[in-house]
Amino acid sequence: MSGKDIDGKAIAQRYRQELAVRVDRLKDSGVTPGLAVVIVGDDPASKVYVRNKAMACESIGMHSEVHALSANTTQAHLLDFLRRLNDDDAIHGILVQLPLPKHIDSRAVIEAIDPAKDVDGFHHQNVGALVAGESAFYPCTPWGVMKMLEHEGVAVEGSRAVVIGRSMIVGKPMALMLINAGATVTVCHSKTRDLPAVARQADILVAAVGRPRFVGADMVKPGAIVIDVGINRLPDGKLAGDVDYDAVAPIAAKITPVPGGVGPMTIAMLLANAVRSAERVAGMAARGETRIA
Ligand code: NAP
Repeated sequence: MSGKDIDGKAIAQRYRQELAVRVDRLKDSGVTPGLAVVIVGDDPASKVYVRNKAMACESIGMHSEVHALSANTTQAHLLDFLRRLNDDDAIHGILVQLPLPKHIDSRAVIEAIDPAKDVDGFHHQNVGALVAGESAFYPCTPWGVMKMLEHEGVAVEGSRAVVIGRSMIVGKPMALMLINAGATVTVCHSKTRDLPAVARQADILVAAVGRPRFVGADMVKPGAIVIDVGINRLPDGKLAGDVDYDAVAPIAAKITPVPGGVGPMTIAMLLANAVRSAERVAGMAARGETRIA
């Protein structure tokens, strides 16, 4: 870690401590927040993610359920299963681990989740609310990035931000959150011409590309805040971000490391969304820093 690192692990830990207090308060009022995670098939990486999410829930006193369905589960069965979770009062958040097997339409599955339990923030109703700048469940990874920027005292309003990547999970919601916070935002993708020149304009540069060490020093303005969302497994088994950390850290003002940057914040925001959902059910106003709007 360099002195410029934004320590996502430490920031996430603070959120988790605050959330544990809120879980205790909910339990005192008779509501135990519950998260159901549904996984279809045997993808090893997905299994690790699911296990980590369940463990994170338990670490703050939440109830968690993992439902592992076989790879040949039909779409009709999965939709029916989700309907039952929608109706289950012990469950306040539902998450379907992506990607799903090819024979299942992911969009149909996401739309089958009750938007009030859609703690991943991928349901069109929640996406629409984000577009409109209204309170909703926001996708956890970009929301975690916003919370990191806030924690570090980064002035988003009036800044020029560049997001590399336009996925529905990271790039697009990231751009919307930055716009809603008053940044002037450019989104780059695989069709962008002279991407390095565009990226060099950024006061805040967010890389969500899925290509190891894609962002080099030639893409970064000296003094920029660099957020690396990428998690890429290298052939030697090590993890690498989308940013060439060694080349970029010397010129950036602040930078997120991989691992230990954005990743821990994603899980913390998932917990925050689930706790907030339970607080709604319990008739408590969302409190504290994890309040959405
Ligand atoms: P994705 O769906 O594959 O999207 C990648 C985006 O990068 C696309 O918009 C693509 O452009 C763009 N891109 C790819 N190659 C490019 C190139 N050569 N030049 C310019 N743009 C290029 O990936 P994602 O789901 O957004 O995830 C991005 C990264 O974040 C991955 O490494 C993923 O593992 C990581 N991630 C981390 C977390 C976390 O918790 N830290 C959470 C989610 C994802 P087109 O649209 O034009 O194809």
